[in-house]
Amino acid sequence: MSNLSVKDVSVDYGSARALDRVSLEVESGEVVAVIGPSGCGKSSLLRAIAGLEPLSAGSVVLGGKDLAGVPTHERDLGLMFQEHALFPHLSVGANVAFGLRMQRLDRASQSKRAEELLDLVGLGGFGDRGVDALSGGEAQRVALARALAPSPRLLMLDEPLGSLDRLLRQQLVAELRTVFVGLGVTALHVTHDQAEAFALADRVVVLREGEVVQSGPPAEIWREPKSEFVARFLGHPNLWNLDDKVVLVPIPAIRPLRIVEDVEEGIGWLRECSVIVERIEFREGRFRVTARSTTSVLCSLEVGPVTVVFDMGSQPQLGGRVLIEIVHDRLIVL
Ligand code: ADP
Ligand code: MG
Repeated sequence: MSNLSVKDVSVDYGSARALDRVSLEVESGEVVAVIGPSGCGKSSLLRAIAGLEPLSAGSVVLGGKDLAGVPTHERDLGLMFQEHALFPHLSVGANVAFGLRMQRLDRASQSKRAEELLDLVGLGGFGDRGVDALSGGEAQRVALARALAPSPRLLMLDEPLGSLDRLLRQQLVAELRTVFVGLGVTALHVTHDQAEAFALADRVVVLREGEVVQSGPPAEIWREPKSEFVARFLGHPNLWNLDDKVVLVPIPAIRPLRIVEDVEEGIGWLRECSVIVERIEFREGRFRVTARSTTSVLCSLEVGPVTVVFDMGSQPQLGGRVLIEIVHDRLIVL
């Protein structure tokens, strides 16, 4: 049986529908990430599950219990939401122990548990500090410890790393994953950042304008996006047109062959094509080149902007030409 079962949930703000019959399941010990662009309904979904937003339709069942009419603080949830900032007048330890106090745990057990959780998030010994002296990353760790302390049945995180810089985010994502796996946490994690979702989640649910458009394990969603929207949102670059369809050409299906001097026409059906380099980015030791094809139509395939990754020793030049090979049995028609 699923730990969390969201069934046909709709949420309306006045006449505007924010969620339209959304269904999803989270098994015990599973981390599910909900991703989608800003405004697609991610926060509304978490707020509806938390009982902070009324449902227009559908049901939320947690641990076999229908949550209709159950107030937020009795739902057995750990919440890490942006608007649930740390309590400024409490120490770090008291912030972490807050949910335990609500559970009426005795004081000694409260501090022991708070210390355990602070150790877990790498802030052992921070208990007596004030929260205003914490860095952004430390504050997020305290918020995580606070959400986890009462051992909630479900942890829900709403863009928990949104305000942090990239390097710190990457580090905290790795730490979150370690904590989730170590504790066997069941979590629903919301983010607009697909890289964060892919690094953290066992399963990903893609939302678009209040509707679930695809769900599955990260690798599967990456390999087989069901629509142009999903492919674009995940950051697949090479989406071209074939007749009235959109074709996804995965980066590994495009091989840079060599830098050339002159136009060389496409040879055979979609095999080789010469392109002009328009942009070069250096990422993690490789050149990621965006180029434009000089032969605009190859057997009814409109080769749009091409993104190719170069491992070759020589750096491609802006405005230079490159011959690429397209491995056509790897094209995915969306
Ligand atoms: P996300 O978290 O994915 O950015 P939200 O759930 O916050 O999306 O918002 C979904 C839609 O509902 C958006 O169109 C947003 O403008 C609208 N919305 C969110 N909260 C409210 C509210 N309290 N009142 C009216 N409209 C809202
Ligand atoms: Mg949001």
